[in-house]
Amino acid sequence: MHIDLLDLKREYDSIKEEIDSAILNVISSGRFILGDEVKKFELKLSDYLNVKHAIGVGNGTDALSLALLTMSIKPGDEIITTPFTFIATAEVISLCGAVPVFVDIDIETGNINPSLIEEKITSKTKGIIAVHIFGQPCDIDEIKDIANKHNIFLIEDTAQAIGAKYGSKFAGTWGDIGTMSFFPTKNLGAYGDAGAIITNDDEIAEKIRRLRVHGSDRKYHHIIIGFNSRLDAIQAAILNVKISYLNKWTDRRREIAKKFSENIYSVKIPLIKDNRDHVFHQYTLRAKKRDEFMKYLNENDISTAVHYPIPLHLQTAFKYLKLDEGSLPDAEKLAREVISIPVHPFLTENEILYIIDMINKWKE
Ligand SMILES: *Cc1c(COP(=O)(O)O)cnc(C)c1O
Repeated sequence: MHIDLLDLKREYDSIKEEIDSAILNVISSGRFILGDEVKKFELKLSDYLNVKHAIGVGNGTDALSLALLTMSIKPGDEIITTPFTFIATAEVISLCGAVPVFVDIDIETGNINPSLIEEKITSKTKGIIAVHIFGQPCDIDEIKDIANKHNIFLIEDTAQAIGAKYGSKFAGTWGDIGTMSFFPTKNLGAYGDAGAIITNDDEIAEKIRRLRVHGSDRKYHHIIIGFNSRLDAIQAAILNVKISYLNKWTDRRREIAKKFSENIYSVKIPLIKDNRDHVFHQYTLRAKKRDEFMKYLNENDISTAVHYPIPLHLQTAFKYLKLDEGSLPDAEKLAREVISIPVHPFLTENEILYIIDMINKWKE
């Protein structure tokens, strides 16, 4: 037995016929970029998330870039975000000429600590990019209040949290813009790169629709300087099949996570805060001797991963910000302790029991 962190083969086997025919339909239609499949997916996604607009783009990183492009960023503007995320969240801030300002996290969840945000707001602060890390919504109501109070924008990087809710609203629909990724390992994954932007703002939606096709509203009529970042029709067709299974798969992730949380006692289980639900993109434990624990699990055929081993302020690419070790202590501490274990919806009951058993045999 070897248990993978994710088993896309089992997922494909369970829906093979539908996927194969969806792909073949696109190939015989001859429409590979945007077109009906993409429109259909945009409608399904906006319906699913109860949001006015969903716009398919090339990937989750482009979704963040395009979102920032609608915000009229000037060089030197500051944008607040978390250091405990995938690099894309902050990379796009630097790429558009702004300065990422990292705020330390709540070590219990890995999400940005809202009580530390206001002290980092200056006259140059233009906005906040909040992340719902591992699939658990951050304290987005508090963060929205701060953004409103200071009249700055709020973008939600929802790459890991499709379908998660804070209160009665979906993650990604609290701020001005939500960005989604359908990278193959995400909870709703394409079979290649894909992403989307969601918003309730008509003007932003129109701007994004232009930006993704070279700033044009009709072929060869370019109104603004844009991008090439379109959702590919084959990926949209795959997503149209898979989105119908998303609730079922998310429920299964939650069920497995519940079993882990009720039965694992040898290491720290993830904390779920009130007034929100988690979609368990990752089930991430905390272990004091993380590297030894990881080696032990891997030797016992359980795949694991570290999300993320180096907080962004300590990455070489962000050295220019001159943030030393010790400057964001909770993010640094969490990065030393985290370890994600398999929580994908195709785990068998035996595998779940085996994972729990092996973890509990570990002594810290
Ligand atoms: C995956 C991910 C992205 C980037 O998405 P891509 O589709 O790979 O470009 C951005 N932010 C977070 C938090 C992610 O997990």
